[in-house]
Amino acid sequence: MIHFNVPPYLGKEIEYIKQAVENKKICGDGEFTKKCNRWLEEHTGTSKALLTTSCTHATEMAALLSDIKEGDEVIMPSYTFVSTADAFVLRGARVVFVDIRPDTMNIDENLIEDAITEKTKAIVPVHYAGIACEMDKIIEIADRHRLIVIEDAAQGVMSTYHGKPLGTIGDYGCYSFHETKNYSMGEGGALLIKDESKIEDAEILREKGTNRSKFFRGQIDKYTWVNYGSSYLPSDMNAAYLYAQLENAELINNKRLSIWNQYYEGLKELEDSGKIELPAVPDGCVHNAHMFYIKARHLEERTKLIAHLKENGIQAVFHYIPLHTAPAGIKFGRFHGEDVYTTRESERLMRLPLYYGLKKEETEVIIDNVKGFYQ
Ligand SMILES: *Cc1c(COP(=O)(O)O)cnc(C)c1O
Repeated sequence: MIHFNVPPYLGKEIEYIKQAVENKKICGDGEFTKKCNRWLEEHTGTSKALLTTSCTHATEMAALLSDIKEGDEVIMPSYTFVSTADAFVLRGARVVFVDIRPDTMNIDENLIEDAITEKTKAIVPVHYAGIACEMDKIIEIADRHRLIVIEDAAQGVMSTYHGKPLGTIGDYGCYSFHETKNYSMGEGGALLIKDESKIEDAEILREKGTNRSKFFRGQIDKYTWVNYGSSYLPSDMNAAYLYAQLENAELINNKRLSIWNQYYEGLKELEDSGKIELPAVPDGCVHNAHMFYIKARHLEERTKLIAHLKENGIQAVFHYIPLHTAPAGIKFGRFHGEDVYTTRESERLMRLPLYYGLKKEETEVIIDNVKGFYQ
C-alpha cells in the first residue's frame, strides 16, 4: 500500500523532544520554540515570526490584529480549506469569494477589484500547492484601496514569488506545520508579521492578553493582563519536533522537488496527448513541491481513476469542495461574479502521494498506474 501521506521524520526529532523534557520546560516559548522562530525570521526576512498552535490560529490572530469586525467583508477564493474563512467568520465578517485561475487554482487577481465594496477590509490570497498568487497585482490593489493582505501560506513554506518568501509579502503570513505539510510538528503553525509596530500586540494576544513575553525578556518586572487574548502558543515538545525538520529544510525541499519533477516528467506524455493536465508554475514562482496534482477531464473520469489506483494499492485523493457550496459558506459568504472555474476545476483535480519518505520506485509505480489507466 502506498499511503497518500506519511508525516516527515528525519531522526533527530526524538532527541530534541527528550532535550525539551530535560530542560524542564515543556510549555510554550522554550528553547525550541525560540529556535524555530529565529529560523523562520532568518530564512524569510520577516520582522517577526511567532510559532502558533496551528495555521488556523495564526489566521485568527491575523484577523484579530487587523481588527476585523462584524459586517466587514473579506475577499478570498472559494477553493480553499475551511480555516481560511473560519478565522474571519469568527469575527463576524462576511466572506466574499471570487473565482480562481484554472492554471494555478489560485485566486484570479483580475477579479478581485470588482468584488471590493466600502465594507471590504482584507484580501486573503491562498498560495495553493505552494505556488504563489500574483502578489504584485494583489498588493497594488490592496494599497490603492487601503486593504490589509493576509497570506494563507499554509502550503507555502520555502516557496518564493520574485525572490520573496511567501508569507512575507502581505501584512501577515500564516504557515502550517500540520502533519500533512512539508515541515511538521503534528499540529502547529506560525504567524509572520511585517509591521514591527504590531509585534507587541501579537505577543500579548498570543499570551492570553498579558505582557508575559516582555516580562520574560526582562523588560518589565511583573506581568499583567493588558488586553483581550487567547492561548496560541504551542508546547516546546512540538517545537522540538519541528526544529529537527527546519534544520533539514533544504534536504526535505530537494527530496520533494525531485519527486515532483519525476511525476512531471513521467506524466508529461499524458498531458501532451490531451488526456490529463499538469500543474503550471508561472514565471517568478519558485515552489516547494507541496503537492503534485493532475486534472482528469471530468468528475466521472477522476472517480474512476481514484478507484483504479486504490485497486492497485495507491491512495490518491481529491481536494477541496468549494466553500461557497457548503452550508456554512452559504450562511457566511457570497460568491461575487460567476463561478467559471472554481467548481469545474475542483471536480477534475486529484492529488498523488508526495511526502519526504516516498521512494523513487514507488513514484514510478504510481506513474505507471496512472498511465495504465489511460491505455
Ligand atoms: C493546512 C491548511 C490550513 C490549516 O492549517 P492548520 O495548521 O491545520 O490549522 C489552512 N489553509 C490551507 C490552505 C491549508 O492547506
